[in-house]
Amino acid sequence: MKIGLQNQQHSTERLRHLYIIALSAIAILAILGQVLIQYSLIQQSSDARVINYAGRQRYLSLKLTMAVCGLLIPSDPIDRDSRIREVRTTLNAVVYEHYGLLYGDAALGLPGGNSPAVMQLLNSVEPNFQAIKDAVTNMLDRIDRDDASFLKTSASVLSPYVDIVLAQEEGFATTMDKTVAQYQHEAEGRVTRLRLIEVVLCSLTLCTLLLEGRFIFHPAISRLRRSMSALVQAEKQVAAHAEEVERKNNELELAFDEAMIAHRKVMPHARVISLGHYQVQGSRGNYYDVESRNVNGITVLECKCPMYKRNMICSHSLAAASLHSALLRQPRNFSQSPNNFRSPDIRRERGS
Ligand SMILES: [Zn+2]
Repeated sequence: MKIGLQNQQHSTERLRHLYIIALSAIAILAILGQVLIQYSLIQQSSDARVINYAGRQRYLSLKLTMAVCGLLIPSDPIDRDSRIREVRTTLNAVVYEHYGLLYGDAALGLPGGNSPAVMQLLNSVEPNFQAIKDAVTNMLDRIDRDDASFLKTSASVLSPYVDIVLAQEEGFATTMDKTVAQYQHEAEGRVTRLRLIEVVLCSLTLCTLLLEGRFIFHPAISRLRRSMSALVQAEKQVAAHAEEVERKNNELELAFDEAMIAHRKVMPHARVISLGHYQVQGSRGNYYDVESRNVNGITVLECKCPMYKRNMICSHSLAAASLHSALLRQPRNFSQSPNNFRSPDIRRERGS
């Protein structure tokens, strides 16, 4: 019983440990999934910015080319100063964002850390970029110098710079186009990888739940079922036992009643000498003296017959005991005529 209880406690403790482990595993998987999702959201917004700035390089290089060409066209609807301002701001933007893409820039939200494939493309576009940058910078320097001398730089002076820009722009735009495609390809790869990881995490979570069901819930429910049926069985046993006890009690009562009736039938004739001193008739008609004695606070009726001497009990002492207890219950009857007193049982016995 004790070993069974210990086993059950041990098994409960084991289930509790397993349950904690399973819950922890699910919690870890959920946290891991959430971390991955948050990281990927940040990564995706960063990817979007990178792709956007890489695409802007194409647009800015075109804008710069158009702006420098505009300076050569006399019929340009935009006035010269605005064109020069446009060239300057566009050049600054191209250069600033180009280095941002290469090395990262917190203000633009560009992370840098490009893949080798992207770095190879950016390095291959570097000669075009440097040529455009140098040509436009030199052109602006020349215009600034001429402006300082209140001279308008002629188209023939500007056209070599514009030629360089026109020659390099095509290569620059094409390579930047490839760079955008490469960035996009890498971003899509990251999304695919993330999707795969999410599927793996989800599968692991489901597996954990499945194992939890198999190794925790199933045994726990089986144990509960067994305990319930054992309880029901025990209750049935207790009820059966109680029924048995009651039946035996009834039998005992019946036996006791029968014994009492038998005892009364064979009760011999008794005489009262005084309270505590009786004479009871034996089977041969002779009378035996029976006297009450106090032994350790208990009243004992002692008979002088050999049977009593041997067994400390005899039919005379039993008859005297019932007479004695009857007298104690009816002291008034006794005080009136002690010698003639007969207990109801004895009177009946005499009459029969
Ligand atoms: Zn006796």
